[in-house]
Amino acid sequence: MDNYIVSARKYRPQTFDSVVGQRSLTTTLRNAISSGKLAHAYLFCGPRGVGKTTCARIFAKTINCLNLGENGEACNECESCRAFNEGRSLNIHELDAAANNSVEDIRSIIEQVTIPPQIGRYKVFIIDEVHMLSAAAFNAFLKTLEEPPAHVIFILATTEKHKIMPTILSRCQIYDFNRMEVPDIVAHLKNVAGKEGISVEEEALNVIAQKADGGMRDALSIFDQVSSFSNGDITYQKVIENLNVLDYEYYFRIVDELLEGNITQVLLTFNEIVSKGFGANIFIGGLASHMRDLLVSKDKATLPLLEVSASVRERYAKQAERCSQKFLYKALRLCNDCDIKYNTARNKRLLVEITLIEVAQSETGDEPSDGRSPRKQLKPIFKAVAETAQTTQPQAEPAKTKASEKKAQQQAPSPQQPQPIPATPPAKLQHPKPKAKTIRPTASIKTDTQKEASSETSVAKDGGPQYGNTPYDEDKVRYAWLRCANETKAKAPAVAGLMKSMRPTLLDDGSVEVAVDSQPILDDMISQKEDISNFFRKELNNGNISVNFIKAKSETQKHLITPKEKFDDMLKRSEALRILAKNLQLTPQ
Ligand SMILES: [Zn+2]
Repeated sequence: MDNYIVSARKYRPQTFDSVVGQRSLTTTLRNAISSGKLAHAYLFCGPRGVGKTTCARIFAKTINCLNLGENGEACNECESCRAFNEGRSLNIHELDAAANNSVEDIRSIIEQVTIPPQIGRYKVFIIDEVHMLSAAAFNAFLKTLEEPPAHVIFILATTEKHKIMPTILSRCQIYDFNRMEVPDIVAHLKNVAGKEGISVEEEALNVIAQKADGGMRDALSIFDQVSSFSNGDITYQKVIENLNVLDYEYYFRIVDELLEGNITQVLLTFNEIVSKGFGANIFIGGLASHMRDLLVSKDKATLPLLEVSASVRERYAKQAERCSQKFLYKALRLCNDCDIKYNTARNKRLLVEITLIEVAQSETGDEPSDGRSPRKQLKPIFKAVAETAQTTQPQAEPAKTKASEKKAQQQAPSPQQPQPIPATPPAKLQHPKPKAKTIRPTASIKTDTQKEASSETSVAKDGGPQYGNTPYDEDKVRYAWLRCANETKAKAPAVAGLMKSMRPTLLDDGSVEVAVDSQPILDDMISQKEDISNFFRKELNNGNISVNFIKAKSETQKHLITPKEKFDDMLKRSEALRILAKNLQLTPQ
């Protein structure tokens, strides 16, 4: 460890050619040097760690090289180059304006400016973070910058170009450094790893490069950190552990589950992620990036925007095939909304859970309208949850104090700390209808109506039930539905809760139609269709009645445009109008 040099320093590029990710810029600089067209002042702008200072040093070395190569690169062999490479050249002066921003600091530079170089042709002054100079220092500097001696070149570097005064900008040749691309960083890290004898997994380097966010210096320092942590064997697993990055496996898994509409599993996976100590906001941000990556994977034209290794690329392409574009757009929007609301949400975990449920429903709930007669639009059950989310707990707690205690915990999660997890895994999640856990019974039906109804029903003693032909209307249908829900409560409380949030519609042919939002629940209801129909026949004492289940349209609100639509809607709301319309034979077309 005695001679340990951090990789960012050890592998700092020595020539323009070895500068990573700034090809066009280094070419321009090299050409300027070859053709001898040098400016007095340069301004290098760009994010941190992308090679501004490195390029400034290479530039200083190159213009002083006594034996400049034809390609415009320094020879690295002459006396001047050696002095530069060994850090003892007197022709380069660096000032970090972040720490030295006073007038005195600038004055000491101005003094140096007047002394001509002893070896080589130019003295180069690099002022890093030049936007940090004080106003007085700026003013003191301005005159020198305007008319420097012929042997002086200034290179100003900044991460914040907009803070540079126009008077300075106008005196400099400006170079904008790009944020480095992930593949460039990965290639460089691979190179470093090879020289250091460190074995690496490409996927691990990808994570490092992404974490560095386009800065090579950061990438190299993360690389050093991980390599010391992993004893020279950098694997994907070790990197994500060390950098506290959420394994992309989770995103692939949860998207599969979302596509299946398997909300139970989605919520369980989310719980697993949270229990590993990842903040819900980190997860939702990651999920949004994953959706974005899937979106760019869908089209060959946007595929280059995907910054992952080749092996994972294939997985993205496969998963993207299964996602409709509509699903991805909607998922992105929902994740983004969640991200925006996250900080102000009182129950952050619930917010993320609702988002996940909505994403899952967006895949199963986008069937086009089947063009049947207008029927009541059902409110998606989870909209109701979103509205009550502010005041209710997702899981019914036995004791009120416990609930409020937990709520208080959930309100103040820190991004670094794990989100509070229910002490026991929510038992209701194991139920195939997890949504029910968030649905609260909206109404309870008096049992006296039930008695009344059953007294009317005649059931044969053997050979199956026999029903009459008692007329019924929409209100009776609705009560029967709620009674049916209450009956179900004993066997399956979750289903009962869901049923209460649905609204049956009496169609013209006398059948009852119930629209269901989510495909899995719809399947479940359809499987019980016969039992429910029988219940209705018994309850309403009418053997002809049948109950059908259909998929609800995804829009929550239907806009009524034509007079006919408005009229139909009013008809559905008002019994009196129905009678009036019938008696007057009103049938607007
Ligand atoms: Zn040289």
